[in-house]
Amino acid sequence: MNNFDYHKPSTVEEAVHLLTDGAKALAGGMTLLPTIKQGLAAPDALVDLSTIEALVGIREHHDKGVVIGAMTTHATVSSSDLVREKIPSLASLASGIGDAQVRHRGTIGGSLANNDPAADYPAALLGLGGSVHTNKRTIAADDFFDGLFSTALEDDEVIAHVHLPIPQYAVYVKFPQPASRYALVGVFIAQINGGVRVAVTGAGSDGVFRAQSLETALNQNFSAAALSGVQENAAELMSDLHGSAAYRAHLITILAQRALN
Ligand SMILES: Cc1cc2nc3c(=O)[nH]c(=O)nc-3n(C[C@H](O)[C@H](O)[C@H](O)COP(=O)(O)OP(=O)(O)OC[C@H]3O[C@@H](n4cnc5c(N)ncnc54)[C@H](O)[C@@H]3O)c2cc1C
Repeated sequence: MNNFDYHKPSTVEEAVHLLTDGAKALAGGMTLLPTIKQGLAAPDALVDLSTIEALVGIREHHDKGVVIGAMTTHATVSSSDLVREKIPSLASLASGIGDAQVRHRGTIGGSLANNDPAADYPAALLGLGGSVHTNKRTIAADDFFDGLFSTALEDDEVIAHVHLPIPQYAVYVKFPQPASRYALVGVFIAQINGGVRVAVTGAGSDGVFRAQSLETALNQNFSAAALSGVQENAAELMSDLHGSAAYRAHLITILAQRALN
C-alpha cells in the first residue's frame, strides 16, 4: 500500500478544492479501501467526506420526490420512515445490500459513483428516472451511467445528493449472488409519470441498463402475463462464472414476473 495524504474537509467546497490530480473522495471506504489495499488504486490523497454534514440526510421535495444526501448510509435509507412511506421499494432495496457492516458504512453516493455492474442503487436511480446533483450540475439518471465502473462524474466533481421522484408504484427484486449479496440479476420496475421504466442491474455487459422490451410490453399491459415470451437479447448480456448470458436473460423476465405477481 502506498503512502497518501489524508484530508478531512468540513464543506463540499473545501473537498472539491482538495480533489486535485491524484486525489480521491472517500465515502465509507467499502470499495475504495480494499481497492487501495489490493494495489488496484494508488491515490496520492484521500478526501474524506464523512464530516461534511451537508451531505447527510433524507428529506421530501415538494411532495414529488425524496432527496437523499450522498453520505447517507444504506442502513439509514432502509430504516427511514420517509423512504418507507414514499418509496418502500427503495427501503427494501437498501436493506438487501451486503451485510450489516456494509450497510452501516456504505453510502448511496459511493455506490452510484462506483457504478459496480452488480450494485443495487444504480437500478433504483435509473428505474425511477432520478437525478444526481453534484457541486457543479444536475445529471439525469439516463445520462449518468457510462459503462462498467464509469459515470459522467468528472475527477473534481462530488455528488452532493440524489433526487428520486415518488412513483405511483415501484418494486425491486434481486437474485443475489449468495456470497456477496450483490445482484446476479436485479430488476427495478416503476410506474411513473404515466409510463413504465424497467432498470436491470447485474446482467448488462456495460452495467445497469433499461430493459426496452419489458418496458414496451408493460406499457401496453402492466401485468406479469404481458411478459410471457418477452426476453432481453442475451447477446448484449454478461456471462461469467456465476451465470451465462442466456441464464441472465431468462432471470430478468422471471424476476420481473415475480415482482409483478
Ligand atoms: C462485502 C461487500 C458486499 C457488498 N454487497 C453489495 C450489494 O449486495 N449490493 C450493492 O449494491 N453493493 C454492495 N456492496 C457495495 C457497498 O454497498 C458500497 O456502497 C460500495 O462499496 C461503495 O462504498 P462506499 O459508499 O463506502 O464508497 P467508497 O468505497 O468510499 O467510494 C467508492 C467510490 O466512489 C467515489 N465516491 C464516494 N463518494 C462520492 C461522492 N459523494 N461523490 C463522488 N465520488 C464519490 C470514491 O472516490 C470511490 O471512487 C458491497 C460491498 C462489500 C464490501
